Order: sequence, then structure tokens, then C-alpha cells
Amino acid sequence: MLDSAHENIRQAAHHLGLSEKRTTELLTVEAAREFTIELDNGKKFNAFRMQHSSKRGPYKGGIRYHPHVDKDEVQALATLMSFKTAAVNIPLGGGKGGVVVDPRKLNAEELEELSREYVRHLEPHIGPDKDVPAPDVNTNAQIIDWMVDEYSKLTGDTTKASFTGKSIENGGSEGRSAATGRGGVITLKTLQELEKTKDEPLTYAIQGFGNVGSFFATIAADEHPHWKLVAASDSSGAVYNEEGLDANTLKQRIAGEKSMKDLEDYQHITNDELLRLDVDVLILAALGGVVNEENHSEIQATYILELANGPVESNVEDKLQDDGVNVVPDILANAGGVIVSYLEWLQNRKGEHWSEDEVNKRLNKYLVSATQDIYKRSQKDSLSLKDAAFVVATERLVHSS
Ligand code: NAD
Repeated sequence: MLDSAHENIRQAAHHLGLSEKRTTELLTVEAAREFTIELDNGKKFNAFRMQHSSKRGPYKGGIRYHPHVDKDEVQALATLMSFKTAAVNIPLGGGKGGVVVDPRKLNAEELEELSREYVRHLEPHIGPDKDVPAPDVNTNAQIIDWMVDEYSKLTGDTTKASFTGKSIENGGSEGRSAATGRGGVITLKTLQELEKTKDEPLTYAIQGFGNVGSFFATIAADEHPHWKLVAASDSSGAVYNEEGLDANTLKQRIAGEKSMKDLEDYQHITNDELLRLDVDVLILAALGGVVNEENHSEIQATYILELANGPVESNVEDKLQDDGVNVVPDILANAGGVIVSYLEWLQNRKGEHWSEDEVNKRLNKYLVSATQDIYKRSQKDSLSLKDAAFVVATERLVHSS
């Protein structure tokens, strides 16, 4: 993933004619924090916080708890976050954190102690004006609430702007849980407007009907009823209906029956077949690296919307483009989450709490404008949307230094 991120940045830097020195600066993290957390019972865990760039504002990025967390991955995600915040033009930088732990093997007390210890180790280097972490894989509002409490105890900060992704009662923002899916809908809608295909029917399939994927589908059903969801998958399998699936019903059924494979009254296809469907848009909302050297030539969709981080490997992007498949890049398409995180930080700093409508209106404004900027740049410089997104972001990062 780190190689992939670096490749995208190198290409953008080359396009802009940046020197090798400038390019290396863009690839280098400003600070790499690596430490060991030891619990009272003696259990030890490696932990990281990578702070890539604060040129445009405080570092911003999630903390993940996973047994496979490694330094390179955290560095790649921190780097991509600086480009994501720049691509959508919010005044924040990029960072990422991680702890090498399987949280399912910890009891609630150990999980709380681990989370509070993480903050104790990092306290001098984080805070509302320095680095504002958020939840990520296997971390949630409860964990963030513990972290904010620990940070407040250590520093006396009462704004709660030290972390985002808090529970609503503890200063979290309305609209955060739906924000990434909603952002994907806004991006796709804006692209249709730019391409003057707004009112044309559109078919789509979703790989990964989890939080992001299911919100995308239910919001799309509500706001763009002429977009037809024909297939959806989770890790257990995929369901398909040429006439269209009802996203709200599917979401309720998954909430009740847990997985796609259990939906016996639906038509099933394999997860690989879903990727090969002849749809207008393939939504990738599960995990990284799913479109790769092995399967890229089988993709029939006209657009791939990257809602997961890095679902299309960078070495096949050009080949997809040559085959007429346009990749709508993750640093634009899934930026809804970080935009609403920024709005949460802003609300905390102003001591305000905005309605969901207000949050969604502001989210829409940022993403429409970012999609327009990137689309126009792709047209002007004959670039793919992915390359254009990195060029726009790189330019903003370079000009702010
Ligand atoms: P989630 O765990 O709620 O959903 C992931 C879904 O993908 C689940 O339904 C899971 O069963 C499915 N899945 C896993 N492996 C699969 C496979 N091989 N084939 C088909 N489906 C598979 O997670 P989420 O919060 O919806 O996040 C989805 C992706 O988006 C992740 O990669 C995440 O890093 C990224 N992302 C999330 C946010 C956010 O705000 N939640 C923001 C940016 C990026």
C-alpha cells in the first residue's frame, strides 16, 4: 500500500515538474511515533502514530486496532490522509495511528486501559491544534470517548476537539456515521452533472454492504431513485436482482439475519461474479487491493467508485483507463468521513452543535467543489480522475509550505 501511495504521489509530482527534493519531502512523514503500551497485567502491545503533514493544519486520521497493523501501512494511510484533506480542501493535515492488537481478545477493562495508555504516551504530540485522531478499523465512539476523557484529565482541555468520532452525547457530530456513504453519493451525483448524464438511468453493484456501502445504497435510493442497485456483497457472499434490489429492505435484512449467504429468498452470485457485472458503476466498499493484476481485465463497469481505501491497485489504474474504466479515487470518493470529522472539530471549537441538515449541507458544499476541481483538472491536463486528484492535492500541499 505504501508503494502504491508513493507511486501516485511521484506521478503527480512529475506532472507538476517538482524537484526530487520537493518530491521526497512529500513522501516523508514529519514524525514517526512508535512505542510499547504495557498494561497493568503485563500484556504488551506495539503502537504507532505517524504524522505525515501538518502544513495545511493539524494532523488528522484514525487509530486502528488490529493484529496486522504494521508501520508501513500506518505510514501509507497517514500519507494518503494528507492528500485526501488537501484534495477536498479542508484545513487539516494527515496522520494515522495503530496498535498491534486483536481487540476481541481483550476484556472491556483491558480495552479501556489500552486506549487511555495510548493517549498518555502521545499526549505531548496530539491535541486540537496539533493532531486530532479519530476511530478507524475496530475502534469506535466508546474508545474515542475514553481517549478524550484521558486527554482532558492530562491537559485540562474542555473543548473535546482533541479527537473526532465521539458519541453524540460527548460532543460528536450529527451525520458522522452516514458521512462516508453520503459523500460517495454526492461525488457520483456531481460527476453525472459534470458529464451531463444526471437524469440518465444508472445501474450499480456494491462490494461490501457494511457501514459505508449500505449508507451509500439507502441514501442513493432516497435521493436518486433512478439509480438501480442490482447486486451487493459482504464477506459471506453476494445477492443479485436484475430488476433492482431494495436497499432499505436489504439493510434491514442484513441487520436481522447477519449475512448475505443467509438471505435464502434472494438470488445469489459469487463475490467474484459481482466484480465482473456489466453495470455502470462498481462501488468498492470492502477492502484494499481487490482490483488487481489478476482480475482488472474482467471489469465491465464504466466507473469504479473507491469507497474503501486503495481497492484498485495503482499498477492497474492505467490499464483500466485504457479499457474505458474510470476510477473515482478514494481520496475524493471516501472523503465524506474526514470532512464531517473536520466539521465535528469545528463545532467543538465554536462550542456549537449543528443539526444533521446543516452538517449535510456543508458536506455537500465541500464535496461538490472538490469533485468539480478534480474533474476540471482531469479535462484540462488530460489526466485520469485519480491522477488529477493527486495533482490538485499535491499543488495545495506544495503551495502551503
Ligand atoms: P464495515 O466493516 O462496516 O463493512 C465492510 C463490509 O465489507 C462488510 O460488509 C464485510 O462483510 C464486507 N467484506 C469484507 N471482505 C469482503 C470481500 N472479500 N468481499 C465482499 N465483501 C467483503 O466497514 P466500513 O466502515 O463500511 O468501511 C468499509 C471500507 O471503507 C473499509 O476499507 C474502510 O477502511 C473504508 N473507509 C471507511 C470510512 C468510514 O467512515 N467508515 C472512511 C473511509 C474509508
